[in-house]
Amino acid sequence: MAINKFLLTFAICRLIATVGLTVDPAELLRLGVDGQLSVDPSDVEIASLDFGLLSRAKPIAVLRPASAEDVALLVRAAYNSAGGFTVSARGHGHSINGQAQISNGVVIEMSSRSRAGHQLGSANNNPAPPQVSVKEMHVHVWGGELWIDVLRSTLEHGLAPKSWTDYLYLSVGGTLSNAGISGQAFNHGPQISNVHELDVVTGKGEILTCSEEENSELFHAVLGGLGQFGIITRARISLEPAPQREVESLLKKLNFIPSSVFTTDLPYVDFLDRVHKAELKLRSKGLWDVPHPWLNLFVPKSRIADFDKGVFKGILGNKTSGPILIYPMNRNKWDQRSSVVTPVEDVFYLVAFLRSALDDGEETHTLEYLSNQNRQILRFCDDAGIKVKQYLPHYTTQQEWVDHFGDKWSQFYQNKMEFDPRRILATGQRIFMPSFVAASSSSSSFSTVGPW
Ligand SMILES: Cc1cc2nc3c(=O)[nH]c(=O)nc-3n(C[C@H](O)[C@H](O)[C@H](O)COP(=O)(O)OP(=O)(O)OC[C@H]3O[C@@H](n4cnc5c(N)ncnc54)[C@H](O)[C@@H]3O)c2cc1C
Repeated sequence: MAINKFLLTFAICRLIATVGLTVDPAELLRLGVDGQLSVDPSDVEIASLDFGLLSRAKPIAVLRPASAEDVALLVRAAYNSAGGFTVSARGHGHSINGQAQISNGVVIEMSSRSRAGHQLGSANNNPAPPQVSVKEMHVHVWGGELWIDVLRSTLEHGLAPKSWTDYLYLSVGGTLSNAGISGQAFNHGPQISNVHELDVVTGKGEILTCSEEENSELFHAVLGGLGQFGIITRARISLEPAPQREVESLLKKLNFIPSSVFTTDLPYVDFLDRVHKAELKLRSKGLWDVPHPWLNLFVPKSRIADFDKGVFKGILGNKTSGPILIYPMNRNKWDQRSSVVTPVEDVFYLVAFLRSALDDGEETHTLEYLSNQNRQILRFCDDAGIKVKQYLPHYTTQQEWVDHFGDKWSQFYQNKMEFDPRRILATGQRIFMPSFVAASSSSSSFSTVGPW
């Protein structure tokens, strides 16, 4: 133990000497967390990258927390630190544009306990497993729990969450920080509409429970809040009886041409976990760990025909070059008090361009070609006045973020000043600059709260 501490101190000191970091190593060591604080190059390397493989940022250290208290200890240290350092929760690292990455700070590996990922040394060093209440029809889960593990736990009681993502190897905190949607979201709404209560570690290091009734401002801010107001350490999620086979009963209610029916009848778990099967196939062909210039847009229904003409038939020339999902959404299933933004129309569509860049000699498969097409799509929508909103948004200027949030920007900004006043959380979203960076560049043209 003493040797480990010595090695950790040595490694952090060396980092500080070589990179000129502002964190006092003793600050991190004095925390006394129950989980693991690591500067192991392989841990740092994993935290430096995400699914998109479009950007890289090396943190100083990685924390695998054993509890919410560990998370709070670290955030409190960052909040009170004289030099200042940033903290970023990382779910399963499935962002595209470095949203969970930081370079001068500590990444918290929220999903490190996952049965699908690493295990910490002993069960005592792990956050609590899901706790199902059959009577209340809800489950309490750790913020870094993967949805696949939530499903496995609840199915033991014949229950399942109401709202899903199409892919289950995502963390609860990561999807609740965005919205969490699937082809069924038109019915139950996004995952953020199916949560009763959260425990959140704010940017000041306080652990607060929040819900519709308690600390409701924080509750609504955190849902769809892109990790800006706090780190979700626990969520209480709504459950329903796990559906049985439904195809026949659904078909009975529909009018259709019998010869056009195409059905695949799968057990419920296999249906929900279907994208993972595709993942395994792609992995086996070396096609998973490649750059993913994904673009997800919410398109208002009134302009979907213009979008079809300009984008699918125009820019893409009727060629998909990768999976494209189109899902209808009902706005009345989205709580407008949350931080997420959607088009202001009763019905809008998610259009998700989920393309992988390949280096196979074909120009139309390259990262440059696909990224350029994404820019053309956004420019077309802008020029045609199609008021799309990005889902899993990525911007680089403050004006773009202000435009993205529209009427919600001033509330979003006020919430930031209240819950993360030093602006140390989730800086990889590039919405706000940490106060200590802004102060040191105050003579430059940076706005004090603007993005990088
Ligand atoms: C293969 C694949 C399939 C996907 N399918 C869907 C889908 O069907 N539906 C859908 O809605 N999305 C989908 N996504 C997008 C996914 O929701 C986002 O990538 C989201 O960020 C969740 O991923 P994550 O848990 O790995 O979070 P990360 O990428 O690690 O983090 C995302 C952001 O959330 C913050 N964050 C992470 N954990 C917490 C926490 N506990 N508290 C507060 N902030 C936190 C991070 O700091 C970061 O800013 C998919 C992505 C991939 C790669």
